[in-house]
Amino acid sequence: MATKLIKPLRLLLLGAPGAGKGTQTSRLLEKFPQLNSVSSGDLLRQQIKDKTPLGSLAASYILEGKLLPDELITRLVKGHLSDAGWLSPQASWLLDGFPRTVEQATMLKSALAKSDTSLTMVVDLDVPESVILERIENRYVHVPSGRVYNLQYKPPKVPGKDDITGEPLTKRPDDTAEVFGKRLAEYHKTAAPLREFYAKRGILKTISGETSDIITPKLFQLIESQYGVN
Ligand code: ATP
Ligand code: MG
Repeated sequence: MATKLIKPLRLLLLGAPGAGKGTQTSRLLEKFPQLNSVSSGDLLRQQIKDKTPLGSLAASYILEGKLLPDELITRLVKGHLSDAGWLSPQASWLLDGFPRTVEQATMLKSALAKSDTSLTMVVDLDVPESVILERIENRYVHVPSGRVYNLQYKPPKVPGKDDITGEPLTKRPDDTAEVFGKRLAEYHKTAAPLREFYAKRGILKTISGETSDIITPKLFQLIESQYGVN
């Protein structure tokens, strides 16, 4: 059942690549219709698809499993927040995949402070690495929407096609074992200081679980307990 937010929610989802940020995001948008979302990875994949200069730069970083320069990704996401009209204190939104470093978090913090739209909650999705590795092999995505499918747990209704648009699904080129290993290593370099940054501000929560289905109800409950009325 859809739930109304009684005050603005500005949420950041943290977690390893493959932890299920995209999956939880889709479910949150359904549950809380006032919520909007943006994924930094999806913004970059759209730039690649549109063949922009930023897209061709991004493609080289992504295929190496490396993080883009902090300034660049921050400018891209800030631009989106502003264009989408989310820098207004009434708007509710969630960020997936950005900030990923303390430098990005610091730049975002000062940008949001200006419009009185600081993050209100940060949730770290804590999923065992063995589960994550298995998941990636079976993952397919619909690039324009960011919708994620899993051949085992969440197959598309028609094989190889997006449920909503019927457009083709693709395998992310950075979901190979080799690149994925690099992405995990990059994640481990930056994750602890980032968690610490938000823990210090008292807005960090951690939700642990082996599957997205275990995490979803915990996430819903956490948000409903502070932001929701039915
Ligand atoms: P998943 O989508 O499985 O959770 P992920 O979080 O690693 O995995 P994306 O968020 O889609 O994947 O990011 C894909 C790639 O885009 C990253 O490996 C990185 O190269 C680049 N990227 C995305 N967000 C950022 C960011 N905040 N800072 C720097 N680079 C980024
Ligand atoms: Mg993602």
